[in-house]
Amino acid sequence: NYDEMSAVREKHLVPCLKSYYKKPLLIHEGHMQWLFDQTGRRYLDLFGGIVTVSVGHCHPKVTAAATAQMNTLWHTTNIYMHPKIHEYAQRLADKMPGDLKVVYFVNSGSEANDLAMLLARLYTKQFDLISFRNGYHGMSPYVMGITAQSTWRFDVPVAQGVHHAMNPDPYQGLWGGKHCRDSPVQTTRDCACAPDECEAANKYYEQLEEVFKYSLPRGKVAGLFAESIQGVGGTVQFPKGFLKKAYELVRINGGVCIADEVQTGFGRTGEHFWGFEGHGVRPDIVTMAKGMGNGFPLAAVVTTPAIAEALGQALHFNTFGGNPVACAVGLSVLDVIQEERTQENCKVVGTYFLQELSKLRDQFSCVGDVRGKGLMIGIEMVSDRATKAPMNNKHFMDVWEDCKNMGVLIGRGALNGNVLRIKPPMCINKEDVDYSIAVLRKALQTHTE
Ligand code: PMP
Repeated sequence: NYDEMSAVREKHLVPCLKSYYKKPLLIHEGHMQWLFDQTGRRYLDLFGGIVTVSVGHCHPKVTAAATAQMNTLWHTTNIYMHPKIHEYAQRLADKMPGDLKVVYFVNSGSEANDLAMLLARLYTKQFDLISFRNGYHGMSPYVMGITAQSTWRFDVPVAQGVHHAMNPDPYQGLWGGKHCRDSPVQTTRDCACAPDECEAANKYYEQLEEVFKYSLPRGKVAGLFAESIQGVGGTVQFPKGFLKKAYELVRINGGVCIADEVQTGFGRTGEHFWGFEGHGVRPDIVTMAKGMGNGFPLAAVVTTPAIAEALGQALHFNTFGGNPVACAVGLSVLDVIQEERTQENCKVVGTYFLQELSKLRDQFSCVGDVRGKGLMIGIEMVSDRATKAPMNNKHFMDVWEDCKNMGVLIGRGALNGNVLRIKPPMCINKEDVDYSIAVLRKALQTHTE
């Protein structure tokens, strides 16, 4: 009963668990890209439980793998060996370039980044870390420091030794210069400049150098954290060549480079299995969570043998990390991605989505920017095309709530909360795109003028 549940929620769940919609949605079931409420009404899920349902809600193959494992062995902790953790570690390592071959399983993105911070500091024997403004890396007290949006921070001292560099946001820019990506007709937002000639990349790189000059003790750093595309921050894509130069600067100064693939991993960007591959870089530490378990708590840090060695033989331990059921789920997610050519689907359907969204941008001046890669898409809503000022919150929420009322669930994000985030289960098809576009167009028509 909806009302009874609302009362229980009010009384027994922490008040910070804010509902997404004015009238909270009660979801009973999910199948692939569809969610069903208590009345059986279906919704197209374009947010996948915050970019987490990767191959589809209750995907039959993943469900079968989890069920089989549950009937065999649930848990031992890593004090004993069990087959699944070895098979899964090997399969993940096979997906990684170079000597990124050592896996540490944990249970959430925050835990993974927490461990990456520790590894970077232990390995380099340095303390200071750099992350980018607008980045999101988790909410545990340790990683809250590298999450660089004030809305996600509390008034407690969490950020010791963390420096936030200017995030390269090609749409908003920071120096007032024009960039090739500002072209109003471009949809994929892939910079067409040669890496060394990209004005945006060079300007932002100068900003990063300032951090080394003015903030870091003797210019030394333990590591740099970067998402391959900023997710919670509003699907912000760094300009071509920027991350590569940033990695070089960090390494020259003794640091390691950490790729947060929590949202961008597992083929979501279409072109590559890992988002960092799109930047032509090879990280020293990779963190992953969300989509790897299709909704089951599962996360990992993958690094090199030398960095893993920094933990030494000390007892560093995670009770649930690499749990047999989680590993069985993770393995079957990898199988499905391969068998159903999910990465290819992200590329094809994502490109189509961006193309159709760009038509909405041409039609409605409040659609400021359409960007993304594969099925990681952002729509920045503005009140003024010229100044790129954020759309007022009421207007934004009206459009967004209306989409839900018409059966399409979309995420939202960015510092000003004015970016619609489309990161659905990777199994959606072109028909779903057409349906979503029709709904968005209707919502924009209703709330414009
Ligand atoms: N990194 C990124 C890029 C994320 O988007 C998130 C979650 N939104 C996290 C880390 C933290 O993951 P979790 O919520 O599983 O701790």
